[in-house]
Amino acid sequence: MSKGTLKVKCIGLHESGKGIVKIKGKEYLVPRLLAGETAIVDMKRTKYKTFVNLVKVENESKERVKPPCIYYGECGGCQLQHMSQQAQDQFKQKLVEDLLKPFGKVNRILTMKAPYHYRNKVHSTFAYGKKKEVISGIYQEDSHHVIDIDKCLIHDPKADEIIETIKGFMKSFKMHPFDEDTGRGFLRHVLIKRGFATNQVMVVLVTSTNVFPGKNNFIKALRKVHPEISTVIMNINNRKTSVVLGNQEIVLYGKGYIEDVLCGKRFQISAKSFYQVNPIQTEILYNTGIEMANLKGNETAIDAYCGIGTISLIVSDKVKKVIGVEVNKDAVRDAIRNAKNNQIKNAQFFNDDAGDFMVKLANEKKKMDLVIMDPPRAGSDEKFLSSLVKLAPKKVVYVSCNPVTLKRDLHYLTKKGYKVKEIQPVDMFPQTAHVECVVFLEL
Ligand code: SAH
Repeated sequence: MSKGTLKVKCIGLHESGKGIVKIKGKEYLVPRLLAGETAIVDMKRTKYKTFVNLVKVENESKERVKPPCIYYGECGGCQLQHMSQQAQDQFKQKLVEDLLKPFGKVNRILTMKAPYHYRNKVHSTFAYGKKKEVISGIYQEDSHHVIDIDKCLIHDPKADEIIETIKGFMKSFKMHPFDEDTGRGFLRHVLIKRGFATNQVMVVLVTSTNVFPGKNNFIKALRKVHPEISTVIMNINNRKTSVVLGNQEIVLYGKGYIEDVLCGKRFQISAKSFYQVNPIQTEILYNTGIEMANLKGNETAIDAYCGIGTISLIVSDKVKKVIGVEVNKDAVRDAIRNAKNNQIKNAQFFNDDAGDFMVKLANEKKKMDLVIMDPPRAGSDEKFLSSLVKLAPKKVVYVSCNPVTLKRDLHYLTKKGYKVKEIQPVDMFPQTAHVECVVFLEL
């Protein structure tokens, strides 16, 4: 229900990148509004939430630019394209400073020189459009409505081309997009991963069933247009869920993984394994973290939440031994193979919950010199952190993609005797409100 339009003034920016406004004493968030701007907005209330949408900006901030993307405003995948590059950098810098200042000085954010087309992993959801045509793109924010997007400014352009080809093939191959409401149809999502350094491409077709008539002809036709596709995987997801990947995986073509090179090491990457989406900035992030630790070469290190072992293997030359722990078994399998393929003998990997693993190490009174940790957005947990404190490594490098949970965890560690020595934000996700940080702590 629309409650009509009204005039508001933006009093600041929220960590989501949205503008904060006050209406009758209550704060609301308005996408694409900048601090200091006054605007006409439209207030809509649904059963669960009130939305305040921007109708017109009355006095534009000097930080406002024309968003280069034609879908901006509708899509929601990027949140900051209406800000100048300088304003984006400043927004992220301030976001990190506001949260982490109590722990010490925050270094100037390391930005990306060419902040577009950086994503090596692209995901597109398939659906029917209004005229029963096949569309593919992303879900509009807070809705289950797919927006048809054929080119995204932060995606690898190659990935978008492949998705467009698949979309074009659907009719002639009698493939139907999946319909969430009826549970009918075949193709749910397409996921593309490309190794920027190797040009190997993985195509994952997420389907509702494992029955795929004509699959060989489909792959042949697809590879004819895009010969760089080195593997095609069918992932079966027949659950009613917004999680993209299901459990069952069938390799239809190639090896079932791609490879990429980071900091001089070669990595194999499976469909379900995590791999940083911006490889250019990842090298900067990893090198920064490793430099902070000022290693002597005799250390025993833990790489917690290690994924496919990227940090472990990159740091392996600089320590005596590194132990990686990771909960995803596909990722651990990749990590073990990656150690072997790079002829690295001083790295060991365990498939376990990082917290449980740390508890075991603490109980065994193992001696650790360094803990590198890179948890998901939710941050670490008490189990992990309390065991870290028991293990008492002299140095901790905390890599975080969410400064809010980073703050919480730093609070814990600094209360238990650790001191924050350096805080370095890195822009891994330009045009979006996300910011990565690497923090060095010492006991
Ligand atoms: N350091 C790696 C991966 C970071 S992403 C890199 O830079 O590529 C975070 C990783 O933590 C993911 O691989 C995820 O599968 C893993 N993870 C999530 N929860 C975990 C847990 N409780 N224990 C161990 N690993 C976990």
